Amino acid sequence: MGKRIYNFSAGPAVLPEEVLLEAQKDLFSYKGSGMSVMEMSHRGKIFDEIIKTAESDLRKLLEIPENYSVLFLQGGATLHFSMVPLNLMPPKNKADYIITGSWAKKALKEAKRVGTVNIAATTESENFTRLPKQSELKLDPDAAYVHFTSNNTIYGTQFKNEPEVGNVPLVCDASSDILHKKIDVKKYGLIYAGAQKNIGPSGVVVVIVRKDLLERSSDSLHTYLNYKVHAENNSLYNTPPTFGIYIAGLVFKWLLSMGGLDEMYKRNVEKAKILYDAIDSSDGYYKGTVTVKEDRSLMNVTYRLPNEDLEKKFVEEAKKKGFDGLKGHRSVGGIRASIYNAFPKKGVEDLVEFMNDFRKNN
Ligand SMILES: *Cc1c(COP(=O)(O)O)cnc(C)c1O
Repeated sequence: MGKRIYNFSAGPAVLPEEVLLEAQKDLFSYKGSGMSVMEMSHRGKIFDEIIKTAESDLRKLLEIPENYSVLFLQGGATLHFSMVPLNLMPPKNKADYIITGSWAKKALKEAKRVGTVNIAATTESENFTRLPKQSELKLDPDAAYVHFTSNNTIYGTQFKNEPEVGNVPLVCDASSDILHKKIDVKKYGLIYAGAQKNIGPSGVVVVIVRKDLLERSSDSLHTYLNYKVHAENNSLYNTPPTFGIYIAGLVFKWLLSMGGLDEMYKRNVEKAKILYDAIDSSDGYYKGTVTVKEDRSLMNVTYRLPNEDLEKKFVEEAKKKGFDGLKGHRSVGGIRASIYNAFPKKGVEDLVEFMNDFRKNN
């Protein structure tokens, strides 16, 4: 078997080795069935068990209450930038958006096609280097929902607590930090997350939605774009991304076996601290890009070097040493180390050692 590297990619991102090995073991013939999961009917008994177990394990991990539906859909988080307003904005046709980065802006763009959008707050004038404070939010108590992005994958900021929005349903794009800790699902109307950062392979989107909100989905919507249809059909209205759901299910089992989300959170805090401490104790050689420390992400650690030439050299030398995916997003530059659930602590420690050596030599 080939050697594994330290994969700091922002997404698709590293998966637990145990999950990959189990999938490999069962790839040719899933548990003696004579076929792989990719080759079997989504309406058959075996897949039925796979998707039901995935759902119940996810419910266990996040303690999702009964009055929420769990859906496994497609289209990436990007399709849900459209589906959320199409389903939830009517009949009021107005919603609040908190703008904290490129993904939030993309969500905003689609919402504007459906109705009136109030920008409740934006930190764009500060290049999204911090999050808006609660006191800065200008919320409309009559909005259909408030949308926010819990972790800003590109800018390296992350809400440590949900914005307080009163009785207005809170909608969250949690693509890059879902399952990094336990959250109180009851605080949310709808959570959506593309799988490829912290859940599994791309091609799956997890949607957790409070059942009463599904009543807003109009029958006049295109069928596939209607959350209510997916909920009524237990994510099997059409052929779901079966293999991706299977892998996501293995990741959920892995998380449970690791001790659940409180244990993952402990590990995530520990890993991020090692890296931020290294940045903060580098006498300014490495500079974190986030200006307010409480806003720093536990998932995507973004920082800069004294100049772009050094950043380029850093990424190149790191790659030679087996640290891949450290180049910052093309829109912001610098370095980004993505350290999701499946990223091992040893990889963070080794990166810090590399950073210290690089600083000495450059
Ligand atoms: C990656 C990402 C997306 C985009 O996901 P796709 O699956 O490519 O559509 C959206 N929101 C956030 C926060 C992301 O990190």
